[in-house]
Amino acid sequence: MSIRIGFGIDFHQLVTGREFWLGGIKIPHEKGALGHSDADVLLHAICDAMLGALCLGDIGVHFPDTDASLKNIDSKILLKKSFELIKAKGYRIINIDSTLCLQEPKIMHFVPQMQKAIAAILSLEITDVSIKATTTERMGFVGREEGLVAHASILLQKIQ
Ligand SMILES: [Zn+2]
Repeated sequence: MSIRIGFGIDFHQLVTGREFWLGGIKIPHEKGALGHSDADVLLHAICDAMLGALCLGDIGVHFPDTDASLKNIDSKILLKKSFELIKAKGYRIINIDSTLCLQEPKIMHFVPQMQKAIAAILSLEITDVSIKATTTERMGFVGREEGLVAHASILLQKIQ
């Protein structure tokens, strides 16, 4: 069995006046993530993990922030396109594990919705999409609520 591991990490600033998209869903919060796309940090980390597993570069190579057609794009589209790239190479996803680092808001009760949104795009069961969350105990830029971070690992299996 041919299996490949991938890892992704992403950072975005949190600012007022932006919608807060995280894990494919909109979360009520006074701040949102700043970026060229909808700035969904978790979906971007998962895209990078997927691409990294097959040595396909990173999300910035495939979806550059200089591309005007990607302005404010729904990152679920980027996730779907990244998945198409790994499917074209003959791979499927076995599982994803991820951790979000953010101080506010508390997001644990949104996790089932995020798992559902991601699993639907990637042809996975909800139990194959692990999403954990931590604060940084008020330390650093995350603790000051200036930004957030997502880490994701992925395992792929060759099926063709
Ligand atoms: Zn990003």
